[in-house]
Amino acid sequence: MTPQGPDASPAPDASPAPDVEPELGSGLDIVAVPLELGDPAWVFPEVTGAEVEAVRHALAAADGHLRGLGAHVGAVAGVHYGCQRFDGRALASLLGVLELDNGFTFVTALYFPRRCGFDLRWGPPWVVEADITRYCPAPADCGGHPLADVSSEHDTPLAAARAFVDATGWLRQQALARPRSGWLSPVSDPACAALPRPKPAADR
Ligand SMILES: [Zn+2]
Repeated sequence: MTPQGPDASPAPDASPAPDVEPELGSGLDIVAVPLELGDPAWVFPEVTGAEVEAVRHALAAADGHLRGLGAHVGAVAGVHYGCQRFDGRALASLLGVLELDNGFTFVTALYFPRRCGFDLRWGPPWVVEADITRYCPAPADCGGHPLADVSSEHDTPLAAARAFVDATGWLRQQALARPRSGWLSPVSDPACAALPRPKPAADR
């Protein structure tokens, strides 16, 4: 994905106290901001009134789906804002990333696809994505093996936020369809071109 893409910022370590102002950084730095400290207007600048609460409600539901996913695989997961402060404005995506030690990675995002970090346009459209990819262990640098993904575009904040709930719910269902042991066991992909191959038996 591009530097503006949904996986460009780390997950927040922990939730600060609610009365702490989020540190939004400056320039093109992307700062992870916990959901409860963020502002839907960073993603949907024209959202107002009752729609703000509807969007917040949807984002909380999406966060709940990711927490459920995390509980299933024994890891912490949730939705956060990936926020840039640029030219006095805050621009953000909504992100959820869960990486397991064996390379399985769950990613979901809601964002406006900017051309670059200096692109100050806003949606519509907003893109909603979710995917599961398995990354091979180092030294393989294969770019990962996609298992499943969904993607859609939306013209209104509420439609995008509700699609984000659906996408995170889909991700959770994908996780629940396999027992925890199936996600945590070591994996290797014999078809991966980036991994060393055993020598054929005839090669003696
Ligand atoms: Zn691979």
